[in-house]
Amino acid sequence: MALSLSACRPTIEAALERALAGIRLSAQDASAFEHTTSSELLALLQTADALRAQYHGDTITYSRKVFIPLTNLCRDYCGYCTFRRDPGDPGAKTMTPDDILAVVTQGEKLGCKEALFSLGDKPEALFPQMQQELQRLGHRRTLGYLTEMCRLVLDHSSLLPHANPGVMGPKDLERLRDVNISMGLMLESTSRRLLGKGMAHDNAPDKDPVVRLKTLDNAGKLRIPFTTGILIGIGETFAERVEALCAIRDLHDRYGHIQEVIIQNFRAKPEVPMHAHPEPSLLDFLRTIAVARLILGGEMNIQAPPNLTPEQYQLLITAGINDWGGVSPVTIDFINPEAPWPQLLTLERVSTEMGLRLRQRLALYPEYITRKPDYIAPALAARLQTMVDADGYPLVQQGDTLP
Ligand code: SF4
Repeated sequence: MALSLSACRPTIEAALERALAGIRLSAQDASAFEHTTSSELLALLQTADALRAQYHGDTITYSRKVFIPLTNLCRDYCGYCTFRRDPGDPGAKTMTPDDILAVVTQGEKLGCKEALFSLGDKPEALFPQMQQELQRLGHRRTLGYLTEMCRLVLDHSSLLPHANPGVMGPKDLERLRDVNISMGLMLESTSRRLLGKGMAHDNAPDKDPVVRLKTLDNAGKLRIPFTTGILIGIGETFAERVEALCAIRDLHDRYGHIQEVIIQNFRAKPEVPMHAHPEPSLLDFLRTIAVARLILGGEMNIQAPPNLTPEQYQLLITAGINDWGGVSPVTIDFINPEAPWPQLLTLERVSTEMGLRLRQRLALYPEYITRKPDYIAPALAARLQTMVDADGYPLVQQGDTLP
């Protein structure tokens, strides 16, 4: 379908024309897309799609991973979280080195290249039981144990760790950098309102946007390739979404380290405090992905988790994503256990139907390997070079066919 802007109001038309000319949307331009006519929404999606195609061609990527929930104990109580546990809760668990090696070994056989460590934030700060557990494991802090487990994965497998352990200080980042090819922390939102009574981040001190932005800033100073993103539908306004996306863009402009931005949609689940909170509609989600593409620009890698919007994969592409994120043939999504990963063959079929070629990537995007070598941890550089082709994609090996 040819892109038609003539049915749009002048402010929208001018913003889309600027976007197509490669000028990223200002916060003010972006705010115009909160309320659109159907023609304007269509034009927004088409513009986002065109930008994606201009910069990423016919390639859409994913990372084949194993998910390692190192510990589900967490000192925060986010209103939408099904992952966290208190000590003694059914399912409360801190993984042992043997647990981790078993998962990693299985993943290796199925062509996984990424070991995603996802865990609760600073449980030892709240729970004496975690302090004792860490002592048994030879550590004082969860982040110390995480560092050792990332090293274990590197020493015993070909997988590359990508840790997502919550808020970190500069020294933590520095230590983890040596054993992670990239790292992540969802900004989620820049709204401090959400820390208020009864809001999504009430009783979640690590979700204060000030401390999360500080972590992202410190990661930039250390040139750590970083994954971040926003979580939509948790009580934030459209303007606050735009503000968060602009904050991410500013960080990337300053340091060049934001390798991908995830746009994640809140899903209501019966067991969470926010079980009755409305989920964002599909159109709201698509609108936000497209606006993110126009704020962050064509070059940025933008991802939406396919397992949280099943059966709508094509629309996610239309809204401007160029990556499906981490998909595991081995482990469930422990953060959203009710939402199975799509089969890789399904993603390949959907991508092909949309005229795109699905390619596996590492937990480090190809352009960081080919064009930004100073963002690669020196301790991992030699190993990385043995794993990739000239374009920065993983070499195809036995077992890498789509499971
Ligand atoms: S979302 Fe993360 S920080 Fe919040 S409660 Fe769950 S595990 Fe903890």
